[in-house]
Amino acid sequence: MQRSTFTESLADLKSRGVRLTPQRQMILRYLKETHEHPTAEQIYHQVCQEFSGISMATVYNTLHRLKELGVIRELSYGDMSSRYDGNDSEHAHLVCEGCGKVSDVPCPPKSSLEMPELAALGYAVGSYRLEFYGICPSCQAHEVHPQESELN
Ligand SMILES: [Zn+2]
Ligand SMILES: [Zn+2]
Repeated sequence: MQRSTFTESLADLKSRGVRLTPQRQMILRYLKETHEHPTAEQIYHQVCQEFSGISMATVYNTLHRLKELGVIRELSYGDMSSRYDGNDSEHAHLVCEGCGKVSDVPCPPKSSLEMPELAALGYAVGSYRLEFYGICPSCQAHEVHPQESELN
């Protein structure tokens, strides 16, 4: 499944009887159009440029609601702030441990994943989250190697 666009998501919500205020639409549009995985704070700063009166609470409420409606996803990382993802297609993530950047990567085919016998554990499994961790090219370029710093 391809990721749905802002227009498609809006039409989908409308057909389900969900109406979004212009502010909420703006948040949805931003998430559908960006390939970054912004935090709530970054979303707030973005939306502020158009709706200067918007509050952080509105941003949080909207994110919660959009997540409930299934049009965006929340990626939480322990004590770091959550990232929000407008990409509703099945995909995996590449996370930089240096700068925290999150990129989308295609999911490996299900057949290549060694699945444990989930049914035997009594769970009704609805979804899974797959993430690869590493250091992005830009962090690698800026990395100071310990040996080099000792020499200088
Ligand atoms: Zn990085
Ligand atoms: Zn993503």
